[in-house]
Parts: sequence; C-alpha cells; structure tokens
Amino acid sequence: MNKPFAIAIHGGAGTILHAQMTDEIQRAIEQALDQAVSQSHQLLAQGGSAVDAVVCAVRILEDSPHFNAGKGSVLTAKEMVEMDAAVMSGEHRQVGSVAGVRHIKNPVQLAKDVMQQSEHVMLIGEGAEEFAAKLGYDYTEQDYFFTDRRYEQLLAMKAEGTTALSESRYPDDHKFGTVGAVALDQDGNLAAATSTGGITNKQFGRVGDSPIIGAGTYAENHNVAISATGMGEAFIRCCVASDIAARMRYLREDVHTACTAVIQGEVKNLGGEGGVIAIDRSGEIHFGMNCEGMYRSCIDIHGKKQIKIYADEV
Ligand code: ASP
Repeated sequence: MNKPFAIAIHGGAGTILHAQMTDEIQRAIEQALDQAVSQSHQLLAQGGSAVDAVVCAVRILEDSPHFNAGKGSVLTAKEMVEMDAAVMSGEHRQVGSVAGVRHIKNPVQLAKDVMQQSEHVMLIGEGAEEFAAKLGYDYTEQDYFFTDRRYEQLLAMKAEGTTALSESRYPDDHKFGTVGAVALDQDGNLAAATSTGGITNKQFGRVGDSPIIGAGTYAENHNVAISATGMGEAFIRCCVASDIAARMRYLREDVHTACTAVIQGEVKNLGGEGGVIAIDRSGEIHFGMNCEGMYRSCIDIHGKKQIKIYADEV
C-alpha cells in the first residue's frame, strides 16, 4: 500500500472581506496558491522530503508579489523590507531560522541552509547575510522587494501612527499575508516552514512569531507540524505552535481539538488575530482561524485539492 503524504499551505490571515476582494486579485492569489501546493505535492509524490516540500511551497509564495513574504513584503517605519523565516524538520527536530534579513531573495532557503549547513539554529540581520554571502547567495537590492501597494499601506499606517498586520484595519486592502507550509512525506517525516515581512511600520528591529520556533513554526515527527499567521506578539506570548504540539502530546487531543483550543482560546483572549495550519502524523490537516479569512490550500492524503479564502467556506 502507498504510504500517505500530504501538504497544506497558507498565505496569511486577517480581515479578508468578500466586499473588498476583486475577481482579478482573487484569481492571482488562487493561482499562486495552486502552483505552490501542486509543485510541492508533486515533489512529495516523487518521494521528496517534507522539508524540501515546505521550502518549495514557501519559495513560490515568496516570489509572488501578492503575499507578505519575499517580494511584496510589507515596509518598516524606515521604508525598507526586513524579513523573517524558519524551517523545522520533525525528524530530528532540526531547525533553521533567520530574522531581519534585507537582501535575501528567498529567506526560507536561507533558513534551510542555517538548519543544514551551520551549527546554529537562528541567525539575524547582518550576520545572517554574511552567512548567506559565504554560501554564495546573491545580494538582492531592496528595490526587488518593493511594491507600490506596500508603500501606500505604510504611508497610511504612518498617518494613523499605528503598526498593523499587512491585511488588517486598512480599508481597501486586498489582504496579502505571511506564508507558510506544513507537510507529511512518504517516510513519515513532518516539516513546517514560515516566511514573512512582518507587520507594516514595524520599528526597532521588531521580530514576529514566524522565525520563533514554538511560536509561529514547529514540527515534531509522530505528532504534528504547524505554521501560523497573525499578530506575532500574541502568538509569541501564547507559544502557539508549541502549545498545540504539547496538547496533542500530553493530552492526546487530535489536531482539530488542539488547534481550536489554542486559536479560539488563549490567542483570541489576548486579542491575537490570526490562524494556523497543521498536519498530524497520519496526514490529517487542520486550518484554523479566529478572523474573517486565511488564504489556504492543501492536497490531502487522498490527493484531493482545496483552495479557500474565507472563514465561512466549508
Ligand atoms: N505573524 C507575522 C508577524 O507578526 C505577521 C503575519 O502573519 O502576517 O510577523
């Protein structure tokens, strides 16, 4: 019998309203999600690893200007892009993450290289870029990441004097967000990856939950892999991904119960808007959110593909 494998991805959560979506934007987002989920699923079908699959999916979403990661990342208060990313392999709980990188086209790839080619688990800013240069990465100018949309968004945030998730509280926004993926491969290995530009108008080297293992990203074989999106400060305070894994490990909750308890419970109580995607050891997938929507897609263990945006889509 074939061994089960599956992949789930997200492109961020937030105040995604039917009324604010145009057909054109929706099609572009769905196409990017489709490409990311299909290519990474194909890799798994050919016997590829869960780590390679999640990196493949996230790279595709980083290259799309429609999400808050890689090209299209939100802008900091200093009008530049600073990106965070992480990868975790459930096999030996190996981890790589980077924070505050400014000139790396695909931060998730660098996170994977930190995991596989350094003795460390997390590198930040200049040091991370120095490591990348040593590995032969190209230096990507900030111009590559810039989009007019993000600039307008920053100006609006500055005028209000606030910071925000890329999607929330911006009246006519088209709701693009952080990206992530979780996968189960044919060898039974789980993996998770997340990549983000963070939040608009962020200051002082702010780092969110995405590159923090146990907050926005986590994977543990024989249990679960998780990638989160939402207000990073709340997700860090709730140790979201770690808490879901712990509930499944110690309380023997299933993936749906554990994710729902955390996202609709503590995270919501702390005012943390957002969601998670998770896959358990048998390939069961959960999408959970406490806001109006989350760009999401999966191909499950039966090969069934889904692409969804709004919370009320079943
Ligand atoms: N979680 C990300 C952060 O706080 C933002 C997002 O999910 O869009 O950096």
